[in-house]
Amino acid sequence: ARRKNEQQESTAVRVGDVIIGGPQLVVIAGPCAIESYEQILGTALEVQRLGASLLRGGAYKPRTSPYSFRGKREEGLEILAQVKALTGLPVVTEIMDARDLEEVAKVADMLQIGSRNMQNYTLLTEVGKSKLPVFLKRGLASTLEEWLYAAEYIMAEGNDQVVLCERGIRTFENYTRNTVDITAIPALKELSHLPVFLDPSHGTGRASLVSPVALGGIAAGADGLMIEVHPQPELALSDGDQSLDFEAFAELMERARPVAKAV
Ligand code: PEP
Ligand code: MN
Repeated sequence: ARRKNEQQESTAVRVGDVIIGGPQLVVIAGPCAIESYEQILGTALEVQRLGASLLRGGAYKPRTSPYSFRGKREEGLEILAQVKALTGLPVVTEIMDARDLEEVAKVADMLQIGSRNMQNYTLLTEVGKSKLPVFLKRGLASTLEEWLYAAEYIMAEGNDQVVLCERGIRTFENYTRNTVDITAIPALKELSHLPVFLDPSHGTGRASLVSPVALGGIAAGADGLMIEVHPQPELALSDGDQSLDFEAFAELMERARPVAKAV
């Protein structure tokens, strides 16, 4: 059983039949980007079998270079809708632009606001109005206070279904893609009623570091993990270096169980 915050009522976020912020550790897994029907269906079936309860996959990808693969957009959403219907897995996908909200909301069970858009107040306001659960990733150089105010923008529209996700921040260290702020997890549990997730994939940028950091996050009190998984990481169109193959994901799920139980 996991500890409850005694100071205040914690908010449970409901996505389909999945309760985030309850006693169960929730794992969201899937590829960085939706590349093809076969790629995401194969991944969905495998992560579902291994215990993930939500599927992730980006149709709209915020890429550092405009010449990188930026996602399959509408076609990606269509593929995601098919895979969702086939597997029954609720899906989380990123929304980058408020103009896409109607299309994305037809498919998404939860809307992801990416790190780069954490302080896009127009977008936050629009997703707040949508009433869909929101997965709010920490801005890459944002303080906890700035992050919590971003969550307030969503909640100010009457939508309290917000999950906070630590995904690493910019520091001087460049061996890893970002620096995971493990402290943020228990700190947010003190400061906020919202569920807290960890994304060790973007946090570390290296597949070999994903599992150990994930376990640290669970031990620190995370309500769940977001993990990038790809059938063939070496062929991924984005974030292959940090994506787990099926075998590594299976091993992480195995190792996560006893840690989650102990917290
Ligand atoms: C992602 O989840 O693929 C992503 C782009 O994450 P972030 O916004 O944390 O960089
Ligand atoms: Mn990614």
